[in-house]
Amino acid sequence: MTFATLGLIEPLLRSLETLGYQTPTPVQAQAIPAVLAGRDLMAAAQTGTGKTAGFALPLLQLLAMEGPKVTANSVRALILVPTRELAEQVHEAVRQYAENLPLRTYAVYGGVSINPQMMKLRSGVDLLVATPGRLLDLFRQNALKFNQLQTLVLDEADRMLDLGFSEELANIYRALPKKRQTLLFSATFSDDIRLLAGQMLNDPLTVEVSPRNVAANTVKQWIVTVDKKRKPELFVHLMRKGKWKQVLVFAKTRNGVDALVEKLQGLGINADGIHGDKPQATRQRALDRFKASEVQILVATDVAARGLDIEDLPLVVNFDLPIVAEDYIHRIGRTGRAGATGEAISLVCADEVNLLSAIEMLTRQTLTRQGEPDFEPEHRVPDTDASGQVVKKPKKPKKPKASGGGGGKRNLGKWVDSGEAAPVEPSIKPVRKVPVFNTGPRKRKP
Ligand code: AMP
Repeated sequence: MTFATLGLIEPLLRSLETLGYQTPTPVQAQAIPAVLAGRDLMAAAQTGTGKTAGFALPLLQLLAMEGPKVTANSVRALILVPTRELAEQVHEAVRQYAENLPLRTYAVYGGVSINPQMMKLRSGVDLLVATPGRLLDLFRQNALKFNQLQTLVLDEADRMLDLGFSEELANIYRALPKKRQTLLFSATFSDDIRLLAGQMLNDPLTVEVSPRNVAANTVKQWIVTVDKKRKPELFVHLMRKGKWKQVLVFAKTRNGVDALVEKLQGLGINADGIHGDKPQATRQRALDRFKASEVQILVATDVAARGLDIEDLPLVVNFDLPIVAEDYIHRIGRTGRAGATGEAISLVCADEVNLLSAIEMLTRQTLTRQGEPDFEPEHRVPDTDASGQVVKKPKKPKKPKASGGGGGKRNLGKWVDSGEAAPVEPSIKPVRKVPVFNTGPRKRKP
């Protein structure tokens, strides 16, 4: 199968040739003809599957071939994304695909001045990539009209709900013309996503592909148990011991990111951080420098790192486990891409045992524990397995105290390549309830 056989026009084929795309990925093979035929789409696919081209190519073709010229302050196609970085990334891809087409494209997001965005929108934009909050601001200030809108794309819809954008989405939805094409992309089809799809989509075609970048047998996954307060120390120890070159590190909170970056920089380690509190320009610069290997350690919260396409990353470290088990799959998907081997290490403390259990159940594997001498936790992390059980050690019958000390047995597991476990299928529903998002308002920018 080629892009030409999917029905794409010559200017797009030329762009793809320049980019070196030879064969459509599975999501592209399914989505492109359906979108060209005007169908609504509900697609389970995440970063790494080629989903951006899957919706952007046919969208650009429809914009180039059909419909009226865009008028002042109007937009003909809208791509909603959860984060600023993703807005930049998607727009950059769109810009490359549209290189040979006479279309105007643009991206708007918060954290930067709104005035230049208002100016730019004055003459109208064929395709706009936007985060929900800034889009509504622009709409309410009459900088945007939706009367010409023919297509809406919700990219990473699950993440948008997770970040508490459901109200913004409802408000945007109310402002859009009823007659339009809608494409929804989500890593998983949860009940909330199905509810959203029911409201927004019209007889959608369902597309499901497993992510190309979660190649279970190419990512070696293991955990080290440690007391919470000793995590920074353990991180530096492992870094030196393993002679880590380039690492993407995930921390739970903005404060956690800042504290670790400060600690690493204090030790003369080339580290930087990205999270929702930092100005957009700073975030982008840190990311660009990391991609260019000018920064060795990039510490990020999930919101800042979601969906980012970082090539050839050898190692991902979960300094904290993610609150939502599915984020573990996204995080480790940043390594072991395109057949390369990668490693994903999680530092786990006793407080995180339920999060660990949810991850093991979702990925259907028991993560190997690698004990680190001198970092044995005082607060033991109970044993877990892929059944979702947290195994509480039976209390030993009380014996009269004989000899002192000794400590607990170290949990030294052999490294197991995760390929020995069942393949990771993020679209599989966990049997037990894990902390997933709901549509209610939630704190934004963790
Ligand atoms: P995405 O899942 O849209 O974030 O895309 C992941 C990466 O795959 C990006 O770097 C794309 O440029 C690349 N890509 C997408 N489609 C193809 C294709 N058909 N052939 C080669 N690379 C692709």
